[in-house]
Amino acid sequence: MITLQEALKKDKNELQEICADIRKKVAASDLNAYVGELTQKEEQGIPILVKDNINIKDEPLTCASRILKGYIAPYDATAIINLRKHGCIPFGRANMDEFAMGSTTESSCYGKTLNPVAKNRVPGGSSGGSAAAVAGGIAIAALGSDTGGSIRQPASFCGCVGLKPTYGRISRYGLVAYASSLDQIGPITQNVSDAAILLDMLSGYDTKDSTSANLPPTECFKNINPNRKQTIAVLPDFLKDASQEIQQAYTETISILEKQGHRIIEKTMLDTAYHISAYYIICTAEASANLSRFDGIRYGNRIDSDDLKELYIQTRTQGFGEEVKRRILLGSFVLSSGYYDAYYLKAQQVRSLIKQQFNSIFSDTDLILSPISPTLPPMFGATSSPLEMYLGDIYTISVNLAGLPAISLPTSQKEGIPVGMQLIGKAFDEQSVLDGALSLENALK
Ligand code: GLN
Repeated sequence: MITLQEALKKDKNELQEICADIRKKVAASDLNAYVGELTQKEEQGIPILVKDNINIKDEPLTCASRILKGYIAPYDATAIINLRKHGCIPFGRANMDEFAMGSTTESSCYGKTLNPVAKNRVPGGSSGGSAAAVAGGIAIAALGSDTGGSIRQPASFCGCVGLKPTYGRISRYGLVAYASSLDQIGPITQNVSDAAILLDMLSGYDTKDSTSANLPPTECFKNINPNRKQTIAVLPDFLKDASQEIQQAYTETISILEKQGHRIIEKTMLDTAYHISAYYIICTAEASANLSRFDGIRYGNRIDSDDLKELYIQTRTQGFGEEVKRRILLGSFVLSSGYYDAYYLKAQQVRSLIKQQFNSIFSDTDLILSPISPTLPPMFGATSSPLEMYLGDIYTISVNLAGLPAISLPTSQKEGIPVGMQLIGKAFDEQSVLDGALSLENALK
């Protein structure tokens, strides 16, 4: 598949051919990375695949949930408006975990997406459709959303690049909220340069999102410099939770960075057990509030009843899947009176501590190198409990809790499966993150 950088040089006719080619490839593909019909009528631009939780005017939007089946988005998300401004068009809907809750794309009402690299393994999640399509050669680039790793982890599992921008960098207006203080839209691409190009297109201040940062759009692609030498912190203590393969891949990546002339220093971070606890309390609390709007009255599917309460109960009981219900229950519990101080408030304190630790590491460091996942992508059906799945998020969620930018890119292969690592940067310093990532990508060519 041609890259975004190459697609930018194509004329209208060539782009139409590319769209037609993608249509054919999607029809022939068994990945289940695209959901719904490829109904987009306009084919006047570079086709970008969009996760099914970002509003595209007049197109279905379901968040891979039965509760939103039949819902048609009444407006474009700001990210989509920005895409259109730069000669791109939303083209196709990417499969995902229901309401972006999960790490495997198995909780979608459309069924699972396959990992193009190894079809018996999960593609990661929740943006599994986006990553599988880009890595599987059926999308030039895709949009995902990252609340606790959902861009970076599937990119790592499928062998492509995923960038989670700083919180506030890309408008969340038109992104269906999972956990509003953590969610960010970001690109999933074939390479680092394409990630920079898409970030530049998507970023910028938006008055429609009160948490959008009042900053001009980034110019990361124009300024990208892989030859810049940076100080990169590594976290040896973090590795105790990782499998042998991941530990090896981490060590190999450090050597490559050293060879590229970067300065490596060792740092420590709060135990990842605290990250998991704080994240799953905060994200479920926010999700329980955000998902209360899906009541059968205002959006999508309704299970009718003469009794209003019964209508709510039946709509939500039949509309939401198991994982979403689990999180609504957990979130309502941690916010309930008597438990608020013990759980929610404590989790917010731990969140502050994590932010402070990042700040202290960044006092003499440009970037942090960390694994993405403690294991290779699991085989389908191998994850035995929700808790086991949650524990797979240990390396990605602290970045969201602190609102930082991070990029995931494939740095090695183990058992023929790509292994991704992430470079984490200071808030609003996507430039250093992309510079470092390009230096690593070039060294691996
Ligand atoms: N796996 C994490 C969760 O289930 C992250 C999901 C995401 O980033 N949307 O919450």
